[in-house]
Amino acid sequence: LKICRFNNNRLGVVSGEEVIDVTAALDILPARHYPFPAHDLLVENLAQLMIAAETLVPHGIRHRLNDVKLLSPIANPGKIIAAPVNYAKHLQEVLADPNLHYQNRIDHIQRAGLFLKSNSSLSGPTAGVPITLPSRRTDHEVELVVVIGRQAKNVNANDAQKYIAGYCVGLDMTIRGPEERSLRKSPDSYTVLGPWLTSADEVAHPNNLGLELKVNGRSKQNSNTRDLILNVEALIAFASSFYTLYPGDLIFTGTPEGVGEIVPGDEIEAFIEKLGSIKTRVLPALNDQGAT
Ligand code: MN
Repeated sequence: LKICRFNNNRLGVVSGEEVIDVTAALDILPARHYPFPAHDLLVENLAQLMIAAETLVPHGIRHRLNDVKLLSPIANPGKIIAAPVNYAKHLQEVLADPNLHYQNRIDHIQRAGLFLKSNSSLSGPTAGVPITLPSRRTDHEVELVVVIGRQAKNVNANDAQKYIAGYCVGLDMTIRGPEERSLRKSPDSYTVLGPWLTSADEVAHPNNLGLELKVNGRSKQNSNTRDLILNVEALIAFASSFYTLYPGDLIFTGTPEGVGEIVPGDEIEAFIEKLGSIKTRVLPALNDQGAT
């Protein structure tokens, strides 16, 4: 099943070029009181939710995909984990270009480990990406994103598949420079997730998916997840050896070679085989948006 969130927090099932409104399926989620769980309730209850959604499909209001505003398919992840330099050719391009690293402080993933992106940076494709530091270079990074389905700790890579709820297309937007990754990659909207959650049963081989990113229609990144240094299962094993993983936690698996600068007005299209494509627009810097 392909499940999206759209417009004003509606829930949809994606079928071809249509979105079928199944928002009533959210009624199966348990009512919770403060303190709220620090993980995503929809993903925790995904199996029952998918059953409820499928019973609503024949009666649901249908929209054309092009007419809806797509939100992040996961609303409340407990954490957003990301893998740095997890494709060998991307490591080579980073080492070769001083614009991409700072004083050679770059290393392959087994040494660099993982990092966290702020939850407040999470955004859907339709919202667009306002540039946060116009004086600095901001790059696109297309990544396969794993959505964790069950609590996991010290998982063996051989068992990792059963902890996966599904997959999304992600953009790990990145300001280049000397700061910690968790700062440079966490401004508002710098974690784009979409176009929908594709449940794990529809993706038999996550480590063999073509992925491509275009800017203004021109191909910039074009690779396959078979080139991951740590593949999906290895990343779950690695991440769960440090963090307990919870339903809805996201793992950005790293970006292949071909990263490059984007500027306001650019249109980004990021495609992953079996998962669809997200389209988003780079926007000018925002002024103070704090008080609304
Ligand atoms: Mn990345």
